[in-house]
Amino acid sequence: MQTDVWNILDTCAFLSQTHPDGKIATANGIEDEIVNRQSKQYYSNLKSKGLKIVEPQNDSIEYVEKVAQRTGDLDVLSSIDLKILALGHEFEGIIISDDFSIQNAALHMKLEVISCSGNEIKELRVWKYKCSACNRISKDKKESCEVCGSEDIFRIKAK
Ligand SMILES: [Zn+2]
Repeated sequence: MQTDVWNILDTCAFLSQTHPDGKIATANGIEDEIVNRQSKQYYSNLKSKGLKIVEPQNDSIEYVEKVAQRTGDLDVLSSIDLKILALGHEFEGIIISDDFSIQNAALHMKLEVISCSGNEIKELRVWKYKCSACNRISKDKKESCEVCGSEDIFRIKAK
C-alpha cells in the first residue's frame, strides 16, 4: 500500500469502514450522507485521527463537470459526488467509492479507484441517451426528445 498518496473517501468508506490506511481526506458535506450512528461514530473517530475535510476549488468542480458531461455521468452525480471527484483531481489521489458513475468519471480522469465492496468497473463507459419512442440517440440528456418530443428518454452504453 502506498502511504504517501492521498485516499479520497466516499460514503462507502464510512459505511463499510473499509479503506486504505495512510493519508485520508473527504469532501466537506459528506457527513450529511452518513446516516447511521455507527458510521457517524467512525467518521468522527477518523476526524480525530487526522481525516482531512476539504472543500474543493470551483475550477476543479468545473473540470469534473466537463469530464462527467462528456462521459454522460453528470446527471447522476450528486454535488457530493462531484466534490469527491474534484478532490481526487486536486490531490492526485485514489478515490475510494462504490458508485459506478464516480468510478467511471474517475477512470476517465486517469485516477485510481478502489471500491469498498470489491465491485470495480472493468471498462470505461461513455453514456448516450435514447428516446424510447423514436429511437433517436443523442449525446446529451434532454428533457424531451428533439425529434418526436417524447419525454421517455433512457441512458444507454455508447461503447
Ligand atoms: Zn423521439
